[in-house]
Amino acid sequence: MSRREECDVIVIGGGSAAFDAAVSARKSGAGRIIMLEKAPEAEYGGNARYSGTGFRFTHSGAEEMRELVPDVDEEYFRSLNIPPYTREDFLADLDRMTQGCMDRTLAETLVNESNAAVHWMKDVGIRWEFLKEHAKVGGKLYFERGIAVHVAGGGVGQLEQWRAVAEGLGIEIRFNSPVSAIHGNMHRIEGVRVCAASGEYDLHARAVIACAGGFQASPEMRARYLSGNTDFAKVRGSKHDTGEVLRYLIELGALAGGQWQSGHMSPIDAAAPDFETPQHADGRGNTQSRYDYPFGISVNNLGQRFFDEGEAQHSFTYAKTGRAVLAQPGSTAFQIYDQKGIRLHRYPHHKATFEEATTIAELAGKIGLAPEVLANTVNEFNAACSDDRPFDPTRPDGRCTRGLAINKSNWAAPIDEPPFRAYPVACGITFTFGGLKVNTRAQVLNTMHEPIRGLYASGDIIGLFFHNYPSFTGQTRNAVFGRLAGRSAVEDN
Ligand SMILES: Cc1cc2nc3c(=O)[nH]c(=O)nc-3n(C[C@H](O)[C@H](O)[C@H](O)COP(=O)(O)OP(=O)(O)OC[C@H]3O[C@@H](n4cnc5c(N)ncnc54)[C@H](O)[C@@H]3O)c2cc1C
Repeated sequence: MSRREECDVIVIGGGSAAFDAAVSARKSGAGRIIMLEKAPEAEYGGNARYSGTGFRFTHSGAEEMRELVPDVDEEYFRSLNIPPYTREDFLADLDRMTQGCMDRTLAETLVNESNAAVHWMKDVGIRWEFLKEHAKVGGKLYFERGIAVHVAGGGVGQLEQWRAVAEGLGIEIRFNSPVSAIHGNMHRIEGVRVCAASGEYDLHARAVIACAGGFQASPEMRARYLSGNTDFAKVRGSKHDTGEVLRYLIELGALAGGQWQSGHMSPIDAAAPDFETPQHADGRGNTQSRYDYPFGISVNNLGQRFFDEGEAQHSFTYAKTGRAVLAQPGSTAFQIYDQKGIRLHRYPHHKATFEEATTIAELAGKIGLAPEVLANTVNEFNAACSDDRPFDPTRPDGRCTRGLAINKSNWAAPIDEPPFRAYPVACGITFTFGGLKVNTRAQVLNTMHEPIRGLYASGDIIGLFFHNYPSFTGQTRNAVFGRLAGRSAVEDN
């Protein structure tokens, strides 16, 4: 006879959404809580381990940020430019990024609860730092709109802090514990089957919170659901996010939400590994992201530009730019900069592969492009730039090219100061947008559009986004819906 155990709340997963949910359940009064993490202890935490841990949330400006980072050096603090980020700002950013497709009620929940969720994290013991990526002009440091802080220590730092908080609250974490089946039906969930190498067993509870991530690490599910050449995408985060829990729940009768054909895909060093890009030891995030493209041009393997590099600040374009790279011949491209562009890099600490040369034609030869074609692309681009407006790296400056088939809308400056550099880039998939449809209490709905009793979800496993994504909304979503899930799991059961 197989083993059977009982607890009050089961949390599937060991990433940040899972910790948010488990700690929220405990703080709401749950008794025995068990987190089931598929990965071994050395690899626990899913994408959270690789995350930059930046958070986007509504706030009233610099003084509120000081509450989150109380021990900040006063002189440094005075150099920071942090305007307020309002509810209307966040909602407008979500609406624009998702092309109006995001469920408005869930967008409002995310936005309205974002500030409280971040302060709640601080109150339960999570420490914060200011972001290190900014534009420096006239002695002032400018963050991109809506973002200013990340969890201290980055991906691993956040996980270690969450683990200490959870264990301090008596929450049990079981590693090497893949969930291999869900017990229940489309109306009521009763527990899960755990397929540990040491033996299978059933775990029952009145509430199950699914936080098992997206399906980006499964080539089979990428091929099945995502359009384009996603076979050739590199997985920026955990190899354990293979989507089986999402599949079990959909098969059981859970409703699908979000855009199943899309995901967060950003440009990454073409030499990055296929899975799990390395992190900076000091917690400054991922080392192989290539986010400085607004300050140069990007060309495909034919030597031609293929998107508007200056459409908006990178926060609002990077999550769709990887897909644009993927669609190019060979699914790779090159970011081209002169020294003016390189001096503006906000991620100079990133470990990047590049070639350098004193002329564009020589650079083309080094990266295997036709020299006359690349030189022509750069010459045409340079001729289309004008200096009718001041160049301003701190905000969209409207300094655009005119007359090109694909214009650059902001930060258009001639590529004319040698030596020139070419950075080869590929598409890095971060997480998938398709997932479970939840309501404003983080209950999972069934295909009758009714809540499935006993089932809640948070994190990348929920389907929320379409087309694109404003940077740093994933961690905020985890905190908002994880907190709601933990609370609802106790209130309902
Ligand atoms: C390189 C990188 C940088 C990022 N930077 C940021 C950032 O700065 N800000 C931001 O907001 N977002 C960022 N993100 C996105 C963000 O990290 C993710 O959206 C978030 O971590 C997802 O959290 P999650 O808990 O839902 O999933 P994950 O953290 O991926 O956790 C899923 C968990 O489920 C487990 N699991 C999977 N299958 C099973 C199973 N069958 N049984 C049991 N457990 C299972 C996995 O092992 C894992 O522990 C970044 C992501 C990456 C990859």
